[in-house]
Formats: sequence, C-alpha cells, structure tokens
Amino acid sequence: MMDLYRKQRLKMVETQIRARGIADRRLLKAMEAVPRHLFVDEAIISQSYNDSPLPIDEHQTISQPYIVALMTEALELTGKEKVLEIGTGSGYQAAILAMLADHVFSIERIPSLATKARRLLEGMNIFNVAVRVADGTYGWRDEAPFDGIIVTAGAPALPDPLTAQLAVGGRLVIPVGGRFTQTLMKYTRLSEDPNDLKKENLGGCRFVDLIGDHGWRAD
Ligand code: SAH
Repeated sequence: MMDLYRKQRLKMVETQIRARGIADRRLLKAMEAVPRHLFVDEAIISQSYNDSPLPIDEHQTISQPYIVALMTEALELTGKEKVLEIGTGSGYQAAILAMLADHVFSIERIPSLATKARRLLEGMNIFNVAVRVADGTYGWRDEAPFDGIIVTAGAPALPDPLTAQLAVGGRLVIPVGGRFTQTLMKYTRLSEDPNDLKKENLGGCRFVDLIGDHGWRAD
C-alpha cells in the first residue's frame, strides 16, 4: 500500500508540479517525501494525490498540491528561515514548510483541527512546527519578525499585523479578494516601513474564508 501511495506521489510531483514550472529542487523533494494521504480522511484517501483541493473536517479544505507548491516556492526558502503560517488546517502545508525552513509557527482558529494536525506532525517526527489556536490575523507577535508568512485562507485585504511582523526582505503570500475567488498575492517587504512592499500577482485562486478581526466576520 505504501508503495502505491509513493508511486502516486511521484507522479503527482511530475505531472502537476514540475510540469507546471515549479523548479525549486528542495521543494520538489519535500513534496515527493511528505505522505499527503495521511492528512486526508480515510473515506477519500484514494483521492489524496488528485489535482484538486479536498475536504477536511469542519468544512475546511486541504489545498490543491499545485497551489501548495506555488505558494511555498514564492517564500524562497533556503532552510534558515522562520516562517509563519495562518490556517494550519490538516497540517500538510506545515509539514512541507518544516522540511524547507528552520522553524514553522502555524496558527489555526479551530481547536479540533489544530489538535489533529499536531498529532499527525508528531507522528511523522516533525518537531520544528509549533501549532497555536488563535485568530491568526493578528500574527504571532512573540515570535516576529518572520522571513516568510503564508496565509492559506482567503482574506478581504492584507491584515496590517502581518506586514508589521514581516522581516525586511521577507516574503508574504496571501489570497486576497472576494469570498468566492481571490488573487494570490506575493508581497516582499523592502524597508523598515511596513507599507514599503513590492507586490506580485501569482494568479487566481479559491480558498475558504480567513475569519478574524482582520479578516472576514464569522457569520
Ligand atoms: N494549510 C492547510 C489548509 C488550510 S484551509 C492545509 O495544508 O491543510 C484554511 C484553514 O484556515 C482552515 O482550517 C481554517 O479554520 C483556518 N482559518 C481561517 N481563519 C483563520 C484565522 N483567522 N486564524 C487561523 N486560522 C484560520
């Protein structure tokens, strides 16, 4: 069985990730290594390596593999970075980041998802990820500044606390837009002024809502 999933995973990386232009070798290796099927519900485990997002508990989703790759590549990780993730969800994206950065701080607002993700990551001997239950739109002030920030839920606008916690030279990737479709944006902080940002459009996307004081309202 493990061998079947490994085959599917190598094929996923080849046809969905490499073929679409993702060239970061460390990232490709990480996606070949992390067992995505362990982050997916038993009932839909056969779809784990499909070219699509999948439902997880609490009406949330694990992102499409290509979107995970695109967002991760945009962070330009070399192995030394401190990274903040907003929206732990299943923990899959955090597991990928754990292999590519020095330390990952991941925030999830739904306690049951955080608990499950923590358990999965520990089970894989991933110990450089800290998961906290909170409103991630405030960031994680005690651990700032971050070399990379990745928001894996759709925001109405860029939350100010996040740019404030981004290191000078750091990269922030976030889907910004309406409730149903967003634009994947990459911001690079250029100076001490948190508003001095280089902006890049990485294309259209569709994420679940970022819910919080600097995001959408819960209702
Ligand atoms: N990165 C995840 C996918 C996340 S889906 C993975 O790899 O599986 C988006 C997640 O963001 C959901 O779990 C949702 O509960 C969470 N979320 C939404 N708003 C949030 C907020 N303000 N702070 C923290 N987590 C939030």
